[in-house]
Amino acid sequence: MTATIIDGKAVAEGIRSEIAWSVEQMKAAHGIVPGLATVLVGDNPASHSYVRMKRKACAEAGIESLPHELPGDASQEEVEELVRRLNGDPRVHGILVQLPLPKHLDEERVLSLISLYKDVDGFHPVNIGRLAMKGRKPLFIPCTPHGAIVLLEEAGAQFEGANAVVLGRSNIVGLPAALLLIHRNATVTVCHSRTKDLPAVCRSADILIAAVGRAEMVKADWVKPGAYVIDVGSNRVDDPTSEKGYRWVGDVAFDEVKEVAGAITPSPGGVGPMTIAMLLKNTLRGAELALSGAY
Ligand code: NDP
Repeated sequence: MTATIIDGKAVAEGIRSEIAWSVEQMKAAHGIVPGLATVLVGDNPASHSYVRMKRKACAEAGIESLPHELPGDASQEEVEELVRRLNGDPRVHGILVQLPLPKHLDEERVLSLISLYKDVDGFHPVNIGRLAMKGRKPLFIPCTPHGAIVLLEEAGAQFEGANAVVLGRSNIVGLPAALLLIHRNATVTVCHSRTKDLPAVCRSADILIAAVGRAEMVKADWVKPGAYVIDVGSNRVDDPTSEKGYRWVGDVAFDEVKEVAGAITPSPGGVGPMTIAMLLKNTLRGAELALSGAY
C-alpha cells in the first residue's frame, strides 16, 4: 500500500486565502485591521527566522504585524512591561511571545500575563485549562496541534472511537493534540520518554501523531497498515550531499512509513505551514473578539 500524501502546504494556502478575504471584509465593513504583535527576546537565529516567516505570512494576509525585539539580557520586568503595554494597545489583537525565552526569564509568568483575548498561541494556562475540561471552550487553540487535527479532518480520518496515539507530551504540541483528539471522541494514548515498548503502542494506532523531536524515529514496523500518520517533527540532520550541508526531516521515516500508512504528512510540507495558517486564523479571531466587544 502506498499512502495518500497529505499536502499541508496546499491546505494551508487555502486557509490563508480565506483569511485574507475575511481580513479584507473586516477592513471594508469596520475599518479594523487585525494586528499581531511579535515579541522576540535575544538573538536565537531559529526564533528570528520563525518570527520573520510569521510576519511575512501576516503581510500576505493583510494582517498588520507589530514587531518588538528585546536584548537577550532583558529583565523579567521589561518583558512583562512590554506584554502589559501590548495587552492595552487597541491595534494589537494577538500577542505572540516567541519561545523559548532566554533561561533567566520566567516563561510561565510571561505567558500567563498575556490577555486571554489576545492569546493567539493558546498557551495561557486558562486557555489550556479550558481545552482540558469537558464542556468548556478555550478562546484560542494552540496552532501546531490544531493544524495537525485540521489535516486529519481534511484527509478524512474518522475520530469517533479510533485508537489515537500521540508521541510526545509537551505543553505546546503533544498535550494539546491529545486533548483535541479526546474532544473528537478518539481513545487516546500519550507516549513519552518513559513509555515502554513504544513500537507496540504506536502499532495500535489508527491515528498516530508524532511530536518527539527525534529524526525519523518512527519506522514502518511501528505503524498499523492504513493508519493516518501526522508528523509534527522538524529536525535538522547533517547531509554532506546537500548544498547547505544539512536537511530537514520529521520524526517519521517518511519513505518507509508511506508504504504502510493509509495517509501521511511529509515534513517539511505538512504541519509546519499549518502552524502559520492557524496563527493567522487566531489573529483574525482576536480582531473579531475585539469587534464584538468581548473585552
Ligand atoms: P519537546 O522536546 O518539548 O517534547 C518532546 C516530547 O517527546 C516529550 O514529551 C518527550 O518525553 C518525548 N520524547 C523525547 N524523546 C523520546 C523518545 N526517545 N521516546 C519517546 N518519547 C520521547 O518537543 P516539542 O513538543 O516542542 O516538539 C516536538 C517536535 O515538533 C520537534 O521536532 C519540534 O521541532 C517540532 N515542532 C514543530 C512545529 C511546527 O510548526 N511544525 C512547532 C513545534 C514543534 P518527556 O516528556 O518524557 O521528556
